Amino acid sequence: MIRHYNIPVFLPELACPFRCSYCNQSAVSGQQSLPDADEIRNVIERNLQSFTHIERHVEIAFFGGSFTGLPLSSQAYYLNIAQPYLQNKHVQGIRISTRPDYIDTKTLEFLKTQGVKTIELGAQSLDDEVLQKSGRGHSVADVIAASQLILEHGFRLGLQMMIGLPADNFEKASHTAQQIIDAGAHETRIYPCLVLHDTALEQLYRQGNYVPLSLSEAVEWSVALNLLFEKSGVVVLRTGLHASEELGGGGLLAGPYHPSFKALVMSAIWGKQFNEFAEWPTSEGVIIFTTSKELNFAVGHEAINKKKLLDRYQKVFFKADPQLEGRDFYIQGC
Ligand code: SF4
Repeated sequence: MIRHYNIPVFLPELACPFRCSYCNQSAVSGQQSLPDADEIRNVIERNLQSFTHIERHVEIAFFGGSFTGLPLSSQAYYLNIAQPYLQNKHVQGIRISTRPDYIDTKTLEFLKTQGVKTIELGAQSLDDEVLQKSGRGHSVADVIAASQLILEHGFRLGLQMMIGLPADNFEKASHTAQQIIDAGAHETRIYPCLVLHDTALEQLYRQGNYVPLSLSEAVEWSVALNLLFEKSGVVVLRTGLHASEELGGGGLLAGPYHPSFKALVMSAIWGKQFNEFAEWPTSEGVIIFTTSKELNFAVGHEAINKKKLLDRYQKVFFKADPQLEGRDFYIQGC
């Protein structure tokens, strides 16, 4: 099976015209400089050496800011660093993340010539009130138009979403996910909105005008969104934030952060599957078979699902079956 690897190269945002209410990137970029060519080559080489799968698809991923907001000369500078790795086939493509209002035909044609294969847009919400109250500086129409243009130019499209922004609710988040699917996205990322220090959201929060999602709400929403995307064939690349990457040293003030957020969501999906399963054996114990990839999620974060099953059975075992795929499972009595 082909394994997909991204080599993340973080470029602090230098060209952002707006300050989204939840973002502290400006403060961060004041402390960091853009990495130079040698630093980027080191990151690429280090990552390439760490990959174990022979059959792999590798992309160099320029993350951390709005790539296409940089002057064309800067974009060309970074993309040039990646070219030798594309030519020697150690890397199969480049991915960039950017804002929906930084996409136009000229930029896309340029990116196409440079080996960029995937473009991720920070859509965040597809509700105009949420976008406006979050200070995003673009509209739903901008996201849809940019998505169409990206697909027309033959790129793979990622649309990232954020849940729990000001004025958001579960219906709007579900509608956002459905519009991401309808827009033809191949992949997505789901980030819960957090309140960071030195942001406009911090002021709203301190004034009592913004209440972040609770951790259980964020998990519940993410369960539903993951299942919706999964049903539609949109790959969810990430659920939740990595503290080291996205909290950016700005400091978390409030919100549904958990270091194992994805594990909480995946455990809850398995818990739901077990609750809905109707053919539990009447034996003393059970063996639950899953893929090796899903096994820990099936057991649950801090064994939550196993503990619940131990209320019903004296013995509960989990085993991997290499014949299974995705979230398939079967249960034997023992
Ligand atoms: S979230 Fe992105 S677009 Fe918004 S201010 Fe931060 S870097 Fe700029």
